[in-house]
Amino acid sequence: MRQLGDASQEIIFYQSYDPYGNVLNTVTAGPESNYGFTGEWTDGNDLVHLRARYYTPKLGLLLTKDIWDGNALDPISFNSWKYGFANPIRYTDPSGWIPEDKALAAQTIRENLYQNFNVLVVQDWGFVHELKIENNEVYREALRANPQLSDCDWYEGAWSMLELRTVRDVVRDLASEMGSPDSFRKELGGIVLSQEDIRSVGQAKAHRIWFTNKSRSFGRWTVLHEFAHAWDANYGWRLSLGLEEFTGGHTDSLRGSGSPLSCQDNRDPGCNKTGYVYGGVPPKGADQNFTRKEDFAESVTAFLYPSEALAFINDPNHGLAGDPRFEWVDANGNVTSDFSLTPRGIFIGTLFNLAK
Ligand SMILES: [Zn+2]
Repeated sequence: MRQLGDASQEIIFYQSYDPYGNVLNTVTAGPESNYGFTGEWTDGNDLVHLRARYYTPKLGLLLTKDIWDGNALDPISFNSWKYGFANPIRYTDPSGWIPEDKALAAQTIRENLYQNFNVLVVQDWGFVHELKIENNEVYREALRANPQLSDCDWYEGAWSMLELRTVRDVVRDLASEMGSPDSFRKELGGIVLSQEDIRSVGQAKAHRIWFTNKSRSFGRWTVLHEFAHAWDANYGWRLSLGLEEFTGGHTDSLRGSGSPLSCQDNRDPGCNKTGYVYGGVPPKGADQNFTRKEDFAESVTAFLYPSEALAFINDPNHGLAGDPRFEWVDANGNVTSDFSLTPRGIFIGTLFNLAK
């Protein structure tokens, strides 16, 4: 992970781009400092304490108690799922990336995201002389791409206006489902968002989301999927563990390497390389890299955007229609087109209610 290689550069990011003069104290160098937000940002111990106090009794009623105990934490791993089954809506954005005359609009979205939701978009557009002072990594990147850039030129960066608006819309939708911006801030715990040269469309961990800088746009499905990962990660990945147990799934590590002989199709439960034996029917099916974390992220996204999930599985081009592996089933075993009635929908709905 190149972008995590140098923690001190991340510190530069945070401090330079707080538009309000608040120092976003990222503590000292070292792996932990990526999470070392204080003040408005999360203090890991306080938040864990708060969550334990607030949620454990309630979730204990719904879920088995043991998922909150012991070694439930997964090692932090980056999502590298390639969206084999996702189908981001494609847009065209006539305004391009962020030209100088869009700077005010971009900044308005950025400040709204930060003030209301604690989502900090790392700015990579602006005058070259500003980038040089405030964000040396972006500056060098800009010069690499355009060696003829002078200090007075405007650099459009990797974000497009459309991408910024998509992020804003998704964050609003998610916060609305959680009841308020305040709930969103508590559940997500502060997010730093940047575009970088990564191999997948998006990646996420607690307090951090990356999107590829190679696209001009990405759909709301992609964006929400990554925010769902960050939500899960802020709880030490226990939300996805809860989903796995609630739906009767399990992860069989013995099947994690090599393909099991009995597998006919890697979309069948347990038949992918992760050995995830999922219970019930994931909203858009599974692929080689489907894990409980992906299951959770997809389930959150389908809960908010069920029509996109339905459109995908009903699209004849995907050949999924009529395949029982892709039909949503309610608690009584009946096929349904209402995702909220499926076990996954019920679980995610409960999480949203607890967040309120
Ligand atoms: Zn994912």
